[in-house]
Order: sequence, then structure tokens, then C-alpha cells
Amino acid sequence: MGEHEIKPVRVVVLGGGTAGWMSAAGIAALLPGLATVDLVESEDIGIVGVGEATLPHIRGYVERLGIDEAAFMKATHATYKLGIDFRDFGSIGTSYIHPFGSFGESVAGLGFHHYWLELARQGLAGPIGDYSLAVAAAQANRFTPPLHDSSLASTYGYAYQFDATLFGPFMRDHGVKLGVTRHEGLVTAVERDVENGNVTALLLSDGRRLDGDLFIDCSGFRSLLLGQELEEDWEDWSQWLPCDRAAVMPCSHKKGMPLKPYTTASAMPAGWRWEIPLQHRMGNGYVFSSRFLDEDAACAEIEANACGEPLADPRILRFRTGRRRRSWSHNVIGVGLSSGFLEPLESTSIYLAQMAITYLIELFPTDGGIDARDRDEFNRLVDMEYDRVRDFLILHYHATTRDDSEFWNHVRTMKVPDSLAAKMDLWRRTGRVEKYADGLFYDASWIAVYLGQGWVPETHDSRAAIPPPEQIKRALDRLREAITQQVLAMPDHRQFL
Ligand code: FAD
Repeated sequence: MGEHEIKPVRVVVLGGGTAGWMSAAGIAALLPGLATVDLVESEDIGIVGVGEATLPHIRGYVERLGIDEAAFMKATHATYKLGIDFRDFGSIGTSYIHPFGSFGESVAGLGFHHYWLELARQGLAGPIGDYSLAVAAAQANRFTPPLHDSSLASTYGYAYQFDATLFGPFMRDHGVKLGVTRHEGLVTAVERDVENGNVTALLLSDGRRLDGDLFIDCSGFRSLLLGQELEEDWEDWSQWLPCDRAAVMPCSHKKGMPLKPYTTASAMPAGWRWEIPLQHRMGNGYVFSSRFLDEDAACAEIEANACGEPLADPRILRFRTGRRRRSWSHNVIGVGLSSGFLEPLESTSIYLAQMAITYLIELFPTDGGIDARDRDEFNRLVDMEYDRVRDFLILHYHATTRDDSEFWNHVRTMKVPDSLAAKMDLWRRTGRVEKYADGLFYDASWIAVYLGQGWVPETHDSRAAIPPPEQIKRALDRLREAITQQVLAMPDHRQFL
């Protein structure tokens, strides 16, 4: 074979928020020799700087980039996260944990929850959370990483809760070490090829220019390239997800309170409120719909509900829920807020950015030109990810009996997307969850929300009634006892940190 010289693709990343640095560091680390990476960011504009809770997938990203977990957690004051505690969503006074882990495990190919439903029908089962190791550990404020050889029939994963204002700089240092060239400056103009419309260069206010072959738009809600320059259409999803504001106010820890290894999401009259425990403080915010609550009232609510001493005045963040019709258009790929936003109810934004980077790396145009089929495949995968998260988020609002405010009356009675209506119908009639090979969220997540919000299906798989009920009960009791013992052997979350 003759020598084939590969000319590296010149990648220019616009934006140095979480999405920008995750993209730049990812490409530099995973496509060595195939790409050069320049990143431009403007300190005058700054970053969103919230986004403190993540999903377990981030661990794969941290690992692939060669980041040391302990160093990363120390630098970002991070805590561990085993799931989310949802309060008052199905009805006021109820709560459940959506765990990063399973409930029991399948027996003879049949999902654990069918056996649980069979036993619960007979009044013989405890709450479904009793059969999840992640739920039990979270409730006890204990944490230890899962053992790879765990024989316990309830596996779990974990994610991080970190200070988003520290995550960016950490990723920046890592990206620069990996060879990313950083430019500080304000992009004020964009140069395009007159023939094919591709972007050819970014022009900075001080006269500098950044030429490139591929441009990653991580300019945040501004969406400078994808939205403003290429005018890629915006698909608005606010009819289903009406929250469009957040009142944010960090707080101190309350003295004597345990450090929870999970996020708390408490439903409010016009949205919901998050509490995210970090090592040094609590993240605290009220996500609400401006159609149902004004900004001053939301700030007053977040102050009234503060989980500790306020560390700053409340500030308002405004957003739109939806996504660009295509995330990759011409030679521009939107990653992060520039390509879309789904409100933070399940902490999915950083995950969506991570998946976009992962798909881009898989479909990267290493031989110079962009193949339209790769671009279409990228857009299909990104759409799939967004659509699935969207449906799952809507479920949290729609599966409720709350009728105590205009907001809850609206979300309870609204028409949901057909794709979600079909999933809900399947569950209600059969107790089954639509199977996914890729994307979020898997069975246990849907089961947690359905059952946690009071949606018990009309029937379940009749194979669950084949073993005698005493036999199922003995197995479930054994599982619950094993979980209790395993949790007792775990250290306290704060101690572990
Ligand atoms: P930004 O942080 O806005 O960064 C944009 C970058 O572009 C900046 O560096 C800026 O300087 C640069 N820029 C823009 N214009 C120019 C220009 N003209 N010239 C040069 N540079 C420019 N995600 C989660 O995963 N979990 C959560 O719990 C979570 N909570 C959230 C809560 C709220 C209320 C909101 C609004 C978001 C939340 N997110 C969460 C989302 C998360 O914050 C974002 O996904 C993440 O911060 C990525 O943002 P970004 O990098 O796309 O944009």
C-alpha cells in the first residue's frame, strides 16, 4: 500500500462554555492527527454557568478523555448523584426517586416489574423503590461506586453534580493540554463560500480571522452560525414544555444536614424547583413558565424556599424549549444550547451535547469533504435523542392528578406528541415499556416515573403469575434484604468524598 498522507481537518469551535470545551477537548483527544482544533470564546459574553447535574454517561466521556475522576471532582467541588428525588409531581404529598439503576432484574426474560405488579396486585409487595439499590443508597445518603462483580440483582450507575462555573475552566485546561488552540475575542462577522454557502472563516472584532473546514457552533442561545448565519429553522416545543425561565439563587448548606447523593426536584405551582448538593454549597433554582408566573414572583418564591443561607441575589435565566430542525447544516454543527434546549428536569443538556460530539466523531469527515449521508445520519441521531428526552420530560408533567393551579391544569390536559401517546397507551394497557436500542431513557426510568406518579397499568405480563405468589414474595424479600445489607456496608456520602 502506498503512503497516504492525511490532511488534518481544520476545526473551529465558536464558544467556550461547557459545550465548546467538551467538543474541542473531545475532538482533540479522539481524533489525533485527523483534526486541528481552534476555539474562540469571549469573556465579555461569558457562559450560562448553570447546569450542575449530569447523567451517568458523562463518566464514559471523562474516562475516554483521560481525565482523573478524583482530580476532576476536587476541581469542580463535585458530589455523586444516584438519581433524582421527584416531589409532588403525581400529586401533592407524593414522592419517588428516579434512580440510575434497575429495579430487580429480569427473570426468564421477563422484566422484574411485571413480577412486582403481580405481587403488588395481591398486596404483597413493598414500594418498587425497595427493590432498587440506587434508591435505597440514596435514601440512606450513602455512596460507593458499584462493584463490577456485584451479584446483587439490582445494579446501579452514578453521575456527578458539579459547579458549572468551575467545569468550563477545568475542561479548558484539559483541552489546551490536548492541543486545542484558544483565542479570546469577539466574533463579529462570518465569511461564506459564495458557491456552496459553507462557512469559511470567523472574523473577530480586532481584525483577526479564523479559517476552517468545519465549524462547531457552541455559541449558546445566540446560535451565531446555525441560527443567525444559516437561519436554520427552530422547532418550538413550548406547547408541551411551557417552562421558559429559571430563577437561580445558590445557597449555603444547612448546618447538620446530610450531603444527599441525589438531586431534588420539587413541583411548584408554575413549574418545579431544583436543589443540587455540591461540596461547598447548594444549587437552587425555580424553573417556571412565564405564562403562569411573573419573574418577580418567581424570585420571591425561590427566596422563600431557600434550602440554606442565600449566597447571591436571585437572577433570571430565559430560555426557549425546542431544537433546530437540523443540527448539522453545510459545514456547521451545532452542539449545546445553539442547537436546542430541553429544560433541566432530567439534567439532559450536557448529555445531549456529549452525544452530539460522540456522533460527530463517529461520522467525522476525515477525508476532507463532507458526505451528505453522514450529515443526514448525524441529524437523524440527534433528532432521535432530542425526541426521546422530550417525550420523557413531558410525561413528568402530564402524568399527574394535580389540579391546584392553571399551570398543572394545562399540562395535565394538554395533547401530548403522538410518539408519547403511543408509549403511554402501551404502558397503561400492558405494563410494557417501548424498547430502545439507543438513546435515553431505558425501562427502569419510565417505570420509575409511571409508578412514581401513580400510573399503575391495567394489566401486566401473565407470565408473572406462573410461579406461586409465595415463591415470588420470597425472592423479592430476599432481594430487599440483600439491598439493605449492601447499603449498610456503604460509607456515608460525605465520608466517601
Ligand atoms: P454557553 O454556556 O452560553 O456558552 C456560549 C459560549 O459562546 C461562551 O463561551 C461565549 O463567550 C461564546 N460566544 C457567544 N457568542 C460569541 C461571539 N460572538 N464571539 C465569541 N464567543 C461567543 N444541563 C445539564 O446537563 N444539567 C443541568 O442540571 C442543567 N441545568 C440547567 C439549568 C438552566 C436554568 C439552564 C438555562 C440550563 C441548564 N443546563 C443544564 C444546560 C447547560 O447549562 C448547558 O447545556 C451548558 O451550559 C452548555 O452551554 P453552552 O456551552 O451551549 O452555551
